[in-house]
Amino acid sequence: MRETRPRIGKPRAFAVAPNLADYAAARARFSWDEARRALAGLPGGGLNIAHEAVDRHAASALRDRVAIRWLGKHGAVVDYTYGRLAAESNRFANALGALGVGKGDRLFALLPRLPALHLAALGAWKRGAVFCPLFSAFGPEPIRARMALGGARALVTTLALYRKKVAPIRDALPALEHVLLVDADGAAPPGTRALGPLFAAASDAFTIPPTDREDLALLHFTSGTTGAPKGAMHVHDAVVAHHATGRLALDLHDGDVFWCTADPGWVTGTSYGIIAPLACGVTLILDEAEFEAERWMAILERERVNVWYTAPTAIRMLMRAGVEVARGRDLRALRFLSSVGEPLNPEAVAWGVEAFGLPFHDNWWQTETGGIMIANFAAEEIRPGSMGRPLPGIDAAIVRRTDGGVEPIDEPDVEGELALAPGWPSMFRGYFGDPTRTARCFAGGWYLTGDLACRDRDGYFWFVGRADDVIKSAGHLIGPFEVESALLEHPAVAEAGVIGKPDPLAMEVVKAFVALKPGFAPTEELRRELIAFSRQRLGPAVAPREIAFSPSLPRTRSGKIMRRLLRARELGLPEGDVSTLEGRDDAA
Ligand code: ATP
Ligand code: MG
Repeated sequence: MRETRPRIGKPRAFAVAPNLADYAAARARFSWDEARRALAGLPGGGLNIAHEAVDRHAASALRDRVAIRWLGKHGAVVDYTYGRLAAESNRFANALGALGVGKGDRLFALLPRLPALHLAALGAWKRGAVFCPLFSAFGPEPIRARMALGGARALVTTLALYRKKVAPIRDALPALEHVLLVDADGAAPPGTRALGPLFAAASDAFTIPPTDREDLALLHFTSGTTGAPKGAMHVHDAVVAHHATGRLALDLHDGDVFWCTADPGWVTGTSYGIIAPLACGVTLILDEAEFEAERWMAILERERVNVWYTAPTAIRMLMRAGVEVARGRDLRALRFLSSVGEPLNPEAVAWGVEAFGLPFHDNWWQTETGGIMIANFAAEEIRPGSMGRPLPGIDAAIVRRTDGGVEPIDEPDVEGELALAPGWPSMFRGYFGDPTRTARCFAGGWYLTGDLACRDRDGYFWFVGRADDVIKSAGHLIGPFEVESALLEHPAVAEAGVIGKPDPLAMEVVKAFVALKPGFAPTEELRRELIAFSRQRLGPAVAPREIAFSPSLPRTRSGKIMRRLLRARELGLPEGDVSTLEGRDDAA
């Protein structure tokens, strides 16, 4: 299945010369110390994300550049220059100070895509507090569980979200002292405060106190795809990786307009929705509305987006809408398309070329890694279906777990667990409150990612599946992604999720759940056709033995297929933690 699509060769000419012009040379030259020197550092020494993201630009020629362009659901457009962002995040820091929220305190944010989110994050970092974003579509219980686990001292949210989701659980959060409402106009319910008056009383001058680069800055919950979400801790030094990967993997250039579509509740929404673009001094687009194909295309066109960072689910939804959605629009400003969060099927990479004249560049990382680790680069060849190659400064390997530890697998094209050599700045410093679990991720000098992959002869990494999702059938190890990608090549298939179903003979057999594109009916004939189609592509050992049609597949709110849920449902087992399941508790 690997390499079923033709490679997309290195571009011959560039509108703008890529930051990473030559992969091997960039790797040879790179060091994290050097990357750190590209930032300013605090005037008295130390490193603070907010200073790198905003204050240093506000004190430079970038002061009047638009840092954030917010697009309201109903057509409002509000710009924040770097100067304004610095002043308003100072106010936020002072408002937190007036409440006694300071170093090490956890400030949670339960906010939709509003600039208040950026102000809260920056204000928290300026004060030395720890920013903890939550997904605003969570229901009360997932919110309670995460705030209790993280020991929330303060929360910033909206009046409506507070009433609906936090008020019912407030009594269960005794450590939560302050609730700040960004839109309450002074009429805040008991136990909360309107941010407006606090803001008005706060000075817009603030000096960031000494910050050690190892000071805690972020607590991020994982997506909960494989089990109950874990709280990954990140420190201020992470900004070094956000800045470097923004330039090298996303190819951000001075003057760019950048749009990261991720929800602020997930790590991408902070690392690349807040920190990386601001640290790189570009203009970021923040769209309040949810996905809608026409709206998204209109934004790309009207805002002259240069670099676009999105996710496979969104790309698949656009594919459902058809290439016409992009055609006829003036998208000449678009220069670099990229995707993260789930495997990007080769089909989707090729669709990018058809619709936009540009391929999507897949990249891989996780909440724990804090930033992009493996990527397809602007100046390099793309192998559709591959996650790409490790960033400069990142050593990745394929390893096998042994009794005594782990053993690197040097031969190409052999599957094993993806491992990274610890030491990059945005590596998590542990799971909050769970040192045992943290320790389980490290062995033999490697951080073990829990994902299976293999590396080809030229160093490109290919995602196989999560260690928990891999199917063992008649002596073969089968990655669900490979089977799903093959199914997606069939014109009738919109989505596919593949699991192993226990079988007395083969140990497991491959079962696929398939959602069809509009206009296709779930007939017996189509089922047989899909089985034959995948057998032809994958061979009988790997092709699904069973196919079930389903109108949609269970996904996390960050868009990942929850195969463990497909499996539990198939086997009639308990569903486990479903707090991040899309469509659940969605009462926003
Ligand atoms: P949990 O750890 O709670 O089960 P999660 O792993 O889905 O949730 P995240 O940290 O948000 O939480 O997601 C990271 C994971 O997403 C990766 O480990 C990988 O399995 C998957 N992933 C991310 N990007 C890619 C990609 N480009 N290709 C394949 N898989 C990807
Ligand atoms: Mg994970």
